[in-house]
Amino acid sequence: MSAFVLDKLCKGCQRCVRACPEGAISMALSLAVVEASKCTECETCMEACMHGAITLVQDVKEDLKAIQG
Ligand code: SF4
Ligand code: SF4
Repeated sequence: MSAFVLDKLCKGCQRCVRACPEGAISMALSLAVVEASKCTECETCMEACMHGAITLVQDVKEDLKAIQG
């Protein structure tokens, strides 16, 4: 799992970038993007985001690997 930014809800305020203790969030074209490999699922960014734009998601690639072996 890692945090994931819902593009349609992100307002580009960068609160999550400043809040993340792992430096896992950066801005790309004024939208926040989470680098999943750095994310420790601490949920600090979710609390910081006033727009409900961040959620936790399963890593789909990891799931596929587990299923396909
Ligand atoms: S805090 Fe929320 S709205 Fe602001 S940049 Fe991060 S995801 Fe986007
Ligand atoms: S859940 Fe924590 S480590 Fe992951 S992006 Fe959000 S603030 Fe950073």
